[in-house]
Amino acid sequence: MNEYVLSVNGGSSSLKFRLYRMPDESQLLSGQFDGMNSANPVFKAVYGECKQQENLSTEDFASAAHYLLSFMLEKQLIPNQQSLKVVGHRVAHGGEHYSGPVVIDNEVLGNIDRLSSLAPIHNPINLLCIQVFRQILPTAVHVAVFDTAFHQTIEPSRYLYPLPYEMYLNHKIRRYGFHGISHQYVSTVLSATFQEQSQKVINCHLGNGASICAMFEGRSVMTSMGFTPLSGLMMGTRCGDIDPALPIHIARITGTDMDNVDRMMNFKSGLLGVSQYSSDFRLINEAAQQGNQQAILAQEMFINRIVETVGAYAAALNGLDVLVFTGGIGENSEVVRQRVCEQLAYLGVVIETTKNRSAEQVISAQASRIIVKIIKTDEELMIARESVKLLAEPVDSGGVELNHDD
Ligand code: ADP
Repeated sequence: MNEYVLSVNGGSSSLKFRLYRMPDESQLLSGQFDGMNSANPVFKAVYGECKQQENLSTEDFASAAHYLLSFMLEKQLIPNQQSLKVVGHRVAHGGEHYSGPVVIDNEVLGNIDRLSSLAPIHNPINLLCIQVFRQILPTAVHVAVFDTAFHQTIEPSRYLYPLPYEMYLNHKIRRYGFHGISHQYVSTVLSATFQEQSQKVINCHLGNGASICAMFEGRSVMTSMGFTPLSGLMMGTRCGDIDPALPIHIARITGTDMDNVDRMMNFKSGLLGVSQYSSDFRLINEAAQQGNQQAILAQEMFINRIVETVGAYAAALNGLDVLVFTGGIGENSEVVRQRVCEQLAYLGVVIETTKNRSAEQVISAQASRIIVKIIKTDEELMIARESVKLLAEPVDSGGVELNHDD
C-alpha cells in the first residue's frame, strides 16, 4: 500500500522538508523555509518539474507548517490530510536514551526536552517543530530519528573522556557523536549495493559541519564529533579539536566571557577564521587558486585534519577496506579527495585522477588496496526509511499499528 511520509529537519534558521511516497521511495516534494525567525523568510520548493519560491510574511514554525500542508494539498501532492500517515523528525540529541528511532509520545517529548541541556541550540527547535507538526497533523504518527543514535554502538573506552568519572556519572559528559543519520545512510548504501557491510569502513562527511566515522560491520566504532558537534575536524566556522586549555586562556587574556569564546569557536573559527575570507569551501578553493595565502593555509589545515583522523581511525579499526567521501565538500571537491588520498598512500590508497575528476562512484584504481568511493548522502530519505521501518515492526518491539481510520 502506498504511504505518504514527510521528513522534517528543523534548524535555528531553516526548516527542510521532503515528501516521499513509500515503499517505492519516490520523492514528491523537496524544499525548505530559509530565514526562519528573521524578517525575510523564504519558502523554496521543488516538485516534479516545477520550482517555486515565495517570500513569506510570517516567520514562525507554526505558520511554516500550515503553509507547507496547504501547499501539499493545493498542488495535490497528497490526496488529503489524513493520507499523510507518517512524519519523521530529525532530532539532534537522543543522549543515552535512544539508540534508534521512536514513536513520539508525551514521554518522548519530555525526554527530548530534558536532553536540551546537552544540545541547547538544536533540541529546543526540534521539539518546537515536533509540537507544531503534531498539532496540524494529529492523525499522523510522528517519529523521532536521532542524530546521535547511530553512535550508541561506540564502546565506553572510546566514548569516555579522561575526566573524573563522576563527570560522566553525574552529568553524562561523554562523546555522543553527530551526523549519525548521514553515516548510517552511507553504511546502508554500502551494504545494499556493494555487500561491504562486514568490512572496515571510514566515512568522511565533509560539509559545513564535518565529521568522520569509523565503522565495522556497518556499526559505528568511533567518530570525531564528541559531546558537542564542535569537536574533531576543522569545519566551516567551527574550530574542531584544540588544546582544551585554550578557551579558558583566551577568556583570561582578552577579558571576554565564556559565552563569547563559545561563539568564537562555533561561528568565527574553522575555514572562516583562518582564511579571514569565507567559510564556503568553493570560495576558499577559488581564492587559494588565485594565490590567497590565508585561503591556502586554511585549505591545508582542513586537509591535514582529515588525513590525521583517517590515519587514527585506520589504526582503531586495525586496517581499512573502504574509504568514503560524502557531504557537500566530500561529494564535490576533487581537490580535497585527491590531496587526502595522496597523503594516505602509505595505507595503500591509490585513486584514478580521471575517475576522481568526474566524481565516479568508485574513484580508486584497480591496484588500490583500499576501495575509495563517493556516496551522495541523503539524510531526509534515511529519516523517512527509519520511520517506516519502525512502524512496520511488530507492535511489542517498538512498532505501532498504522490505523487512523477509526
Ligand atoms: P551542511 O553541513 O550545511 O549540510 P553541505 O553538506 O551542503 O553543508 O556542504 C556545504 C559545503 O560544501 C560548503 O563549504 C560548499 O562550499 C561545499 N561545496 C559545495 N559544492 C562544492 C564544489 N563543487 N566544490 C567544492 N566545495 C563545494
